[in-house]
Amino acid sequence: MRVLILGGTGEARSLAARLVDAGHDVESSLAGRVSNPALPPGRVRVGGFGGPDGLAAHLTTNAVDAVVDATHPFAATISANAAVAAHRVGVPLLALRRPGWSAGAGDDWTRVPDVAAAAAHAAATGPGTVFVTTGRRDLAAYAADASHGYLVRTVDPPAGATPPRMTLVLDRGPYTVDGELALMRTHAIGLLVTKDSGGALTEAKLVAAAMLELPVVVVDRPAVPAGVTCVDTVDTAAEWVLAQATRGRAQAG
Ligand code: NAP
Repeated sequence: MRVLILGGTGEARSLAARLVDAGHDVESSLAGRVSNPALPPGRVRVGGFGGPDGLAAHLTTNAVDAVVDATHPFAATISANAAVAAHRVGVPLLALRRPGWSAGAGDDWTRVPDVAAAAAHAAATGPGTVFVTTGRRDLAAYAADASHGYLVRTVDPPAGATPPRMTLVLDRGPYTVDGELALMRTHAIGLLVTKDSGGALTEAKLVAAAMLELPVVVVDRPAVPAGVTCVDTVDTAAEWVLAQATRGRAQAG
């Protein structure tokens, strides 16, 4: 099977390793957003395709047999493009999304539909620094709030508008509960804002917030495109690829 993995996540790298080990011809695609990305086994290409048309052309030109969209749960544009392109050229597509986080007993979580709503909530919150972990691209949403200090953590430096009273931390994790507790205490955090990214690598902030009894604003995930099958483990995604290979052999025979 020639498999295209739309990547940029740990799950995408794990899946690439599994499929390469199983003898598939795997190409992983990265957007090229972060400097020095972790690279998966197999072939790697970097950069946008040029919308759904470009992706459809890539699938045809490279005779791709199956696509796994293992991008980050919040990378909604590439997921929509994949749905359009795969449907157009008749290539099977699977979405792989790790499970989201859920609040435990006693957690003070507010779920909001997008970063704009999270920023509005932050601006209206009480005193204390707002700890923002929603990425570097949406920071303009917080730029009108001069009444709070903001601790902003991103992988690469932000471009564009940022909160006027911002302390920036550049880090990519994984994070520990002790480290997150120390950071939140040092900066007198009063509110944590996070996307519902899911996964263990960045979950420590939620544990720390619970220990400090801090309120948390959680931005809900965008929906997986209509009609696209979605699984939440690398194992299940690998099984799906195997099923496509079996079906392809049956059709050829
Ligand atoms: P996005 O908004 O959904 O996509 C914007 C454009 O970037 C797409 O239209 C596509 O360009 C290009 N692109 C995105 N992912 C690509 C991929 N894997 N391979 C080739 N081109 C890709 O994406 P995003 O939110 O900027 O995320 C970019 C990448 O970072 C994703 O691969 C994602 O897995 C990873 N990531 C995102 C987040 C997040 O919070 N959004 C967090 C961690 C990692 P063309 O239209 O030109 O094809």
